[in-house]
Amino acid sequence: MTEAFLYTMMAGVFGLIIGSFLNVCISRLPDDYSIDEPRSQCPRCGRMIQWYDNLPVVSFVMLGGKGRCCGEPISFRYPVVEALTCALFVGAVYHFGATWAAVKWCVFSAILVELIFSDLETRILPDEFTKWGMALGVMFSPVVLLPYGLVGAMVSVYYPQASGAMASFVNSVLAAALLGGGLWFLGWAYERLRGREGLGFGDVKMVAMMGAFLGLETTLVGLMAGSLLGTVLGLAWIKLKRQSSDNYELPFGSFLGVGALLAAILSF
Ligand SMILES: [Zn+2]
Repeated sequence: MTEAFLYTMMAGVFGLIIGSFLNVCISRLPDDYSIDEPRSQCPRCGRMIQWYDNLPVVSFVMLGGKGRCCGEPISFRYPVVEALTCALFVGAVYHFGATWAAVKWCVFSAILVELIFSDLETRILPDEFTKWGMALGVMFSPVVLLPYGLVGAMVSVYYPQASGAMASFVNSVLAAALLGGGLWFLGWAYERLRGREGLGFGDVKMVAMMGAFLGLETTLVGLMAGSLLGTVLGLAWIKLKRQSSDNYELPFGSFLGVGALLAAILSF
């Protein structure tokens, strides 16, 4: 067994555990429930769940998707989040090895998975993940360098002795401020023109978080991919369900999250 294989296996197990934790966050953060309560309860009947019924993915399969306590169906979201987080962690460590880059992409994917599913279910993008995510993205920027890009070129013109770490840090901060600010402005203008809210402030903070992790160009690609996906799927959904677009709130954050994941993977 090679060392690389061992690291990838460890990333998979770790991904399942983190995925299980993300499920707790998706369920509890929007209602302000504590996420550090010692034991898990069945969301249907409130009874305690034993540890052997709470194993990532495995328990869902063993139980046939139904709670042992009350026989009510368990949401598919649980195994999907766990399997997806596992796959993303495995992918990051397989691609980057045991490096800081792998750590950064695992952290970023975990944040995105939480936000994608939280927005899909509750239309809430918790501050714990957007704001703290933004801070983490900025902190990673001098350690795992962002692509040089436009900001790097600008920095080298005005400050030729700047290091790569410095250019990456400036890219991260500028991308967060410019893209988050830009989206905020669009939302503000839309509200002024149409008299209703088009974007939540959660979306603005999420885009700033993406900017901090991805830098200017990659975030723009992610924004475009997410908006395109949101427009196509949103229109299809409204047609299918014959809903009026006025009373259906699109989970824009979920689409942004998928766009950011695609952009990140394409940039490797
Ligand atoms: Zn139950």
